[in-house]
Amino acid sequence: MQIYSFLFKWKKNCQPNFKKKVSLQFVRTVYVCSNQLVASFEEAKKNRMSQIENELETSRLLRDWYRIHKRELPWRESSDPYIIWISEIILQQTRVAQGMDYFLRFTERFPDVASLASAEEDEVLKYWQGLGYYSRARNLHAAAKDIMERFGGIFPERYEDVISLKGIGEYTAAAIVSFVWNQPYPVVDGNVFRVLSRLFAVDTPIDTPKGKKAFTELAGLVMDPRYAGQHNQAIMELGALQCVPQNPDCEACPLKGHCAAYGAGDVQIYPVKQKKTRTRDRYFHYLYIIYKGKTWLSRRKGKDIWEGLYEFPLIETDKAMDFAELQTTDAFRRLFAGAGRLNVSADLQGVKHVLSHQILYTAFYRIEIEREGDALKSYLPVATDDVEKYAVPRLIHIYLEKLEGNLSE
Ligand code: SF4
Repeated sequence: MQIYSFLFKWKKNCQPNFKKKVSLQFVRTVYVCSNQLVASFEEAKKNRMSQIENELETSRLLRDWYRIHKRELPWRESSDPYIIWISEIILQQTRVAQGMDYFLRFTERFPDVASLASAEEDEVLKYWQGLGYYSRARNLHAAAKDIMERFGGIFPERYEDVISLKGIGEYTAAAIVSFVWNQPYPVVDGNVFRVLSRLFAVDTPIDTPKGKKAFTELAGLVMDPRYAGQHNQAIMELGALQCVPQNPDCEACPLKGHCAAYGAGDVQIYPVKQKKTRTRDRYFHYLYIIYKGKTWLSRRKGKDIWEGLYEFPLIETDKAMDFAELQTTDAFRRLFAGAGRLNVSADLQGVKHVLSHQILYTAFYRIEIEREGDALKSYLPVATDDVEKYAVPRLIHIYLEKLEGNLSE
């Protein structure tokens, strides 16, 4: 009615020259259209309200489930951002059961930012040994130093500051600020991708920029910002325990009444991925050279796996080869030039080590030499008993353990 009278006033006062052109029919049409507009606006508003109620209900169901089913984990008892940070970085590369010992040992030796910042990188890597992804340990160390310098040793609280630290991306920053300070940043990790893609039957591939953006928005919509920290932990835990990749237990799921994939009976097709990860085969031959109670190591450099870790002299070949063939390579001849007779024992071949984008086919040879050749001068001499004091790849650690047991396994 207000629009109707406004149009009459406009017609009379503001547009005197167009009086004849603006007919009563025109005014009526505008009136009807405006009423329809208001109605559809009301409808949209109602739909959005019920959508919000659904989202809040989803968040509440998740939190209720979490309170009962969550695992008791040491970092969940803590509100120290440093502790949450370490646990999140460790859990990015290992399951909780395997990561627990690493977490406990690491935080016992480096209980706070200051102790981590003041440690030597070699020691940090040693405590990380076996976890893989060693760049993450180096980033932790660099970020701890950065916190000392830029923030006076106090872990920053602002999301922008947290994400500016080396090795901390959107996921880890959101986890830290929401778990510790309840800031409304949604977490999106593999578990959350899976839960959301099934819950809303979203087939946008999760490994594309478009997918990441869509799922981050969706995660924000589902989250009740008043309980951001608990909600984030709940949805991750649901993905880890209930909405698992294979055969999720939908019958016992608190969200089954809301879950589109479950309703349609096609849970297994989610989440959708675009790319198949390409893997590269590599062939490593490690030479554990012994002479008068010492051996030789070198430190890995460059942008390859295990940067900064120590290893025995390595010959990498582009195909599988046995020891007889390895001896014919230039690299082998150079390494043992002037070493006299070689006494080979304790070899271990066909060790397959799977990394995220590489498969390593590895052989170890323990070789006693008669003389110390010149080629060994470019390596670090170490007493054989001291090798375990160096941070070595897990693969080498396992070989040394087997050697102690006389390669009986
Ligand atoms: S009903 Fe099944 S598929 Fe849906 S969220 Fe729950 S566990 Fe996942």
